[in-house]
Amino acid sequence: MTARPKRRLLGLLAAIGLLPAAAGAQEVNLYSSRHYDSDRALYEAFTKETGIRLRLIEGDADQLIERIRSEGANSPADVFITVDAARLARAAGAGILQPFKSAAVETRIPAALRSKDGLWFAIAQRARVIMYDKEKGAPAGLARYEDLAGPAGAGLCVRSSNHPYNVSLAASILAADGPEKTEAWAKGVAGNLARPPQGGDRDQFRAIPAGQCRLALANTYYLAAFGASQKPDDQALFKRIGVVFPNQGAGDRGTHVNISGAGLVRTAPNAANAARFLDFLTSDQAQAMIALGNMEYPAVPDAPLHPALEAMGRFRAEPVDAETTNANAAPALQLLQRAGWR
Ligand code: FE
Repeated sequence: MTARPKRRLLGLLAAIGLLPAAAGAQEVNLYSSRHYDSDRALYEAFTKETGIRLRLIEGDADQLIERIRSEGANSPADVFITVDAARLARAAGAGILQPFKSAAVETRIPAALRSKDGLWFAIAQRARVIMYDKEKGAPAGLARYEDLAGPAGAGLCVRSSNHPYNVSLAASILAADGPEKTEAWAKGVAGNLARPPQGGDRDQFRAIPAGQCRLALANTYYLAAFGASQKPDDQALFKRIGVVFPNQGAGDRGTHVNISGAGLVRTAPNAANAARFLDFLTSDQAQAMIALGNMEYPAVPDAPLHPALEAMGRFRAEPVDAETTNANAAPALQLLQRAGWR
């Protein structure tokens, strides 16, 4: 075999994961628990701009953290990306990340959306909101998450308690209201459920027009995806569902948001390329792709919002506190399950 075809064969084997890439190859290995088409377009844009190949390893966040930990010094992982503040704190706590400080991150990502020690920064945000049927009018007496436990919250649909979106929301309520009030809240919510929790966030507000659910608790980006769709049925649903951003009163803590974030892996073999990728995630181009492609709120304050998201209105977000959310996650889930929220 001559040198050229042999090199091509080795490159091919590396590409399909049978061989490590040759030393000096321009690549970055991304371990991500995000699974959106818009992210793939983002990675292609990065490769196009830099010539650095991006190899994506997708999986569940906790499994990826464990995998990086068990791979140890030999881990090919350069960058870790996940959804959920608590899981970012967990990755930091597991020791799989190293501080990454760059002018791009520090000037473009607000300090409240970065870990204090530089271990991760947010790339996108989504808000967890109350949804209702516009044909029936805005629900009375429903201005706070806390109100969902009372008469105003009757007929609520929400997914299972053990999903990170609900765990992190309950963790933030636990931080704000304390264990006794949170337990009472969870019992009230469980008693207000229109049906046993089933399906994902979309299934909650989709059941509103048929009257199966009066209210839904779901993330903004799922509903905005219907607004961004070209299908008439999706558009009709989007127009019919109204949104309440909870806890907006003067002095109140704001609407619960959860973040996706990225960090540099402690043992990153391609740290320089990883740094370029992390900086790229804060760029106008990347932030616009995330915001317009996946209908999330960008992490960079002046990045564009998708019109479907803009149509829901502006709101004040509760400050993200990943460490507290993570510390409260297990007790919060226990409260929810003890209250009968399956
Ligand atoms: Fe989601």
